Amino acid sequence: MIRITPFGAAGEVTGSATLVETPSARLVVDLGMFQGDKDDDARNVIPGPIHRESIDAVLLTHGHLDHCGRLPLFVRDGFEGPIFTTPATRDVAEIILMDSANIQESDYRRRQRYAQRKGRKLSRLDAPLYDQDDVEQTIRQMEVVDYDVVVDVAPGVSATFHEAGHILGSASISLQIHHNGQDRTVVFSGDVGPRNMPYLKDPESPSKADIVVLESTYGDRDHRSIDATVEEFTSIIQSAIAQKGKIFIPSFAIGRTQNVLYYLAEMIRHGRIPRVPIFLDSPMAIKASQLYTEYAELFDEEGSELVADGQLASDLRTLRLSSSAEQSRSINDYRGPFIVVAGSGMCTAGRIVHHLRNNIANPHAHIVIVGYQARGSLGRALVDGATHVSVMGSWYPVQAQVHTLGGFSAHAGQSQLVDWLRPMVHGHQPQVVLLHGEEDPRQLLAERIHEEFSITPRRPRYGESLSFA
Ligand SMILES: [Zn+2]
Repeated sequence: MIRITPFGAAGEVTGSATLVETPSARLVVDLGMFQGDKDDDARNVIPGPIHRESIDAVLLTHGHLDHCGRLPLFVRDGFEGPIFTTPATRDVAEIILMDSANIQESDYRRRQRYAQRKGRKLSRLDAPLYDQDDVEQTIRQMEVVDYDVVVDVAPGVSATFHEAGHILGSASISLQIHHNGQDRTVVFSGDVGPRNMPYLKDPESPSKADIVVLESTYGDRDHRSIDATVEEFTSIIQSAIAQKGKIFIPSFAIGRTQNVLYYLAEMIRHGRIPRVPIFLDSPMAIKASQLYTEYAELFDEEGSELVADGQLASDLRTLRLSSSAEQSRSINDYRGPFIVVAGSGMCTAGRIVHHLRNNIANPHAHIVIVGYQARGSLGRALVDGATHVSVMGSWYPVQAQVHTLGGFSAHAGQSQLVDWLRPMVHGHQPQVVLLHGEEDPRQLLAERIHEEFSITPRRPRYGESLSFA
């Protein structure tokens, strides 16, 4: 018997963590952080059934915080077992977890200062979940596995990592479970990318499965085509440059930033925009971009050629890396047109906030939103057309021109999820479990899968165990 229990991302998109119990082993696939509002902080704990001594191994699909963010907590708790993942995911996770530890540490110090001023004491709940040492230990426990290699991960269980095309190093994982001369295959999709992403290979479906645990982030819709989105992006940049504008692109450090640079390079190569200065103003994004070049062997054909023959570097001759705060500040002295790509992606922290403070009231500034903006974030206020926004504690009128591009996504849409599943349904009907989606997308994807394959997917709640014979 196999038992599968989600401890996160059940009817929501963050906190991915699934316990898999076989007759001979107990495994955890992903152990991510809940992200969003304050209430989520309290949910970032290791649930009782994921007990450090009873877990044989953890398997990690990719390095996003909502998939790996509780790992250092588990290690701090005393988990000493292996964490299997791809080499690139280990390196991505290191950047992301270190950043998370630093943010928690500085938030904590800020709260401490505030409490001291008010003569209060902080509760234990205010302490950081983990620190840099915990992250370092977590990274040491990672055992790297290349794509498409079968590896033993626990008694009676072997695993294969397949390209998921979502971010650098991302994988879907097949678990082969051997018991009493019988073999069962459980496939975890992880986050599945769309086709035709810059640099990344397209996602690959495993060829067989008895049970499939599938993400459903965009289970309710298909995205606009990437070509149409790039076209819109190009015309925004063209007209902003024509107005000699200062162009600010808030961007997530890993994945989206590299994609934005890729499209800007393409515009320059085809003569669609002139060579203007492009500032990459984010130490984390600079580190992540460096990592991309180290893993160029994982790129698709087009991406590897562009890197190998120096074309991309030549297109991006005007790219300047602003590592230090001083370099970042000096951007203020430039006259437009120029482009700044800076974090954080939702304008909630990081250097983009300083740029927005200096430019939000400037009608010659352009803010180009290229990613998801959560409710409550400064980025969301701009997308929603706020006339005044609070930046670093002061209110400013929004006079900069705000452009919103909805089409870039690192997730497959509904039809692509169904296509990803199709090879595993061919000649054999697996059982399907839907996770990593809010209730509506999850329900709509379930209906579509039922229509296509006559399979009724299961949609467990947090902590609800599903048993499979
Ligand atoms: Zn992800």
